[in-house]
Amino acid sequence: MFERVCIVGVGFMGGSFALALKERYPQCQIFGIDINHSAISKALELKTIDGGSTQIKDTLRFDPQLVVIATPVGTFEEIAKALAQLDIKCVITDLGSVKGRIVYMMEEHLGGNFVGGHPIAGTEKSGVENSLKDLFKGKRCVITPTEKTSPQAKKMVKDLWQSLDALVEEMDPYLHDYIFGAVSHMPHAVAFALIDAIARLSKDGVNLFEYPGGGFKDFTRIASSDPIMWRDIFLENAENIVKAIEVFQESLDTLKSLIVSGKAYEITQYLSKAKELRDRIV
Ligand code: NAD
Repeated sequence: MFERVCIVGVGFMGGSFALALKERYPQCQIFGIDINHSAISKALELKTIDGGSTQIKDTLRFDPQLVVIATPVGTFEEIAKALAQLDIKCVITDLGSVKGRIVYMMEEHLGGNFVGGHPIAGTEKSGVENSLKDLFKGKRCVITPTEKTSPQAKKMVKDLWQSLDALVEEMDPYLHDYIFGAVSHMPHAVAFALIDAIARLSKDGVNLFEYPGGGFKDFTRIASSDPIMWRDIFLENAENIVKAIEVFQESLDTLKSLIVSGKAYEITQYLSKAKELRDRIV
């Protein structure tokens, strides 16, 4: 089914996608484009890709059936413009963490052959050397077709994710950003801010980072994520993230005031409700 796929951005996600594709379609040739020469040479060395270039214009030479954009979301517009200029006719999708405005912007440049996608799978690691071939297996993958999306392009992208054992769910691009602004983007903001708070609480020769408990490590693992990727997500989904942070601040204020007023029963109620909700997550 797939013989030539081009991946723009050969980092952790692009590399994982390439490995999953190679396992499922061993005959598929994968061409990588990355502005970073060392990402291309590492990916070639690891045989994650079969060929590569730092020049997006080389996409044309490769004549792909599918282009997958796997760069930070702040680069999407320049990439869409470059692909539009090359007059690429194939289906184009992405792995970006923000959809909403981006999907409509991409469509403006690329037309109905663009299908927004966001695999709900990842880690705090970046770079092709950390790629995982089984990353998407059994994981949800949200696709965000619009009224403009070509039905054939949507089918191709949907079938591809299903063939990689992902659980595909269609969603409105703006609803996607509301949901993931709350359950993914806001928690990342909280983790980064928690590290900042611990740094500021370290004083007078006491380095609090020398005493990390299991809970602290679990909670802050995602603060090791790539700053550029998260800067772009925060800026692109700012409205939803800011609203979610405000709601979180209210929740924290409620807990703080219960602690300040020493209301043991109410604290137990608050924590029990949170535990019950957390325990329901599968
Ligand atoms: P990464 O840093 O590992 O890889 C990004 C790659 O893109 C790098 O190799 C970089 O050199 C390259 N790049 C940057 N600008 C470029 C440009 N203009 N042209 C070509 N290449 C360029 O990041 P990642 O974790 O693979 O994330 C990639 C995308 O996947 C992001 O949009 C992110 O939101 C999304 N995503 C990430 C995760 C995750 O857990 N890491 C999960 C879901 C979605």
